[in-house]
Amino acid sequence: MGRVSKKTARNSGRHTGKTGTRHSDGRRAVELLCMLVEHITDLAIYAVDPRATILSWNAGAEHATGFSADEMIGGSIERLYTPQDLASNAPAREFEQAMSAGRFEGDGWRMRKDHSHFWARIVVTALRNSKDVLEGFGIVVQDLTAQREVERQQYEHALQLAARDAARLEAEERARELADLVHQISAQATELERRRLEADSASRAKADFLATMSHELLTPLNAIGGYASLLVMGLRGPLTAEQRADVDRIRASQLQLLGMINDLLNFSRIESGHLAFTVDDVVLSEVVREVAETMAPQVSAHRLIEERIGCSDTVVARADREKVEQILVNLMSNAVKYTAPGGRLTWSCAATGNRARLTLRDTGQGIPPDRLADIFEPFVQVGRGFARPVEGAGLGLAISRDLARAMGGDLTVESTPNAGSAFTLDLPRALPPSPRDSL
Ligand code: ADP
Repeated sequence: MGRVSKKTARNSGRHTGKTGTRHSDGRRAVELLCMLVEHITDLAIYAVDPRATILSWNAGAEHATGFSADEMIGGSIERLYTPQDLASNAPAREFEQAMSAGRFEGDGWRMRKDHSHFWARIVVTALRNSKDVLEGFGIVVQDLTAQREVERQQYEHALQLAARDAARLEAEERARELADLVHQISAQATELERRRLEADSASRAKADFLATMSHELLTPLNAIGGYASLLVMGLRGPLTAEQRADVDRIRASQLQLLGMINDLLNFSRIESGHLAFTVDDVVLSEVVREVAETMAPQVSAHRLIEERIGCSDTVVARADREKVEQILVNLMSNAVKYTAPGGRLTWSCAATGNRARLTLRDTGQGIPPDRLADIFEPFVQVGRGFARPVEGAGLGLAISRDLARAMGGDLTVESTPNAGSAFTLDLPRALPPSPRDSL
């Protein structure tokens, strides 16, 4: 019996029957049992003496650890423990528990001959003789590495499923949040559209009101002008010098009011989109010349100098000529109004790429930088509310810029307080006909 030490073989026969037959039956049973244990391969079964020297080593132990019976019997069990378990004195603890409780049971790592580890269920049973003297320990070790691996895989699989579930839940949550957001945005868009329609209709109502009011005001105003003219012409009899001066003042005020009402009418027409444009090639120098001639009396009354630079006939815009004229009249009236006597008004023209530009520069009071954007808003007059030295409704620039933009252009300003301002009208350029056109 190469797998059992001689001492163990002797001991195993000690508890058999008393009579010869029973004795031999008992020995036979023990032998069979030993054979069974010896040949079991699923479980590592071995016995050690009280000093933990290995006494027996079955086929299962050889299978599980790779150590043969010859290598192990008579040797120490320490080779089966991991360095950590040895350091923590695990073998002694297991045997002590087996001694005190009769049995130790636990899971842990065990070492193979090739230094690999296997996960094992270990049962250590204290073996005592009839006088209760400890003879040794029986140890059964089950290799659970494969089972543990299956459990680990099941655990990982469960983890993956949980992670996938969590991701799915998160995606669903995100989708819900997104749907909420879309819902909110579309509600806001609807609300914005409603407000826009409301604002549009309010703006139309305002423009209609302005148009009606202006028309209503024009009739009596024209009557005032007409009757004042009759008086000036002496058709109602001769006027004294004082009366004539008063009628002149009435006439001047009437003209001023007329200008403001015309501004209002224009503005309301642009705002309500009722203005028609007749676009044609416009030679800017011609419009400048005409406007300058019309305004010449005011320019000389204010003792200003008017000059033109680079306004050749080649600078041609695509625009509505009347509207360009209206814009230039407004720019020039402002330049006259806001430039002190002795100042200079300079027109300049330029054509670059597909743009035609016209600039009117004055040496007047200028505009504070923080008001530059405001002056194009309707009814804005810089310095309004304080001493206002000049008349006007604050609509001229608003109208002019609207007109410029409606023609695909723009009206901009550069200014330095107390040095002057430069207003630039930018318009689409009428490109000269290509040689092919003239063929
Ligand atoms: P109005 O001349 O009737 O007040 P505008 O819309 O034409 O209205 O001009 C708005 C404001 O812009 C004016 O009140 C004035 O303060 C300022 N402004 C316009 N042109 C000039 C200029 N050439 N120099 C200085 N300020 C100007």
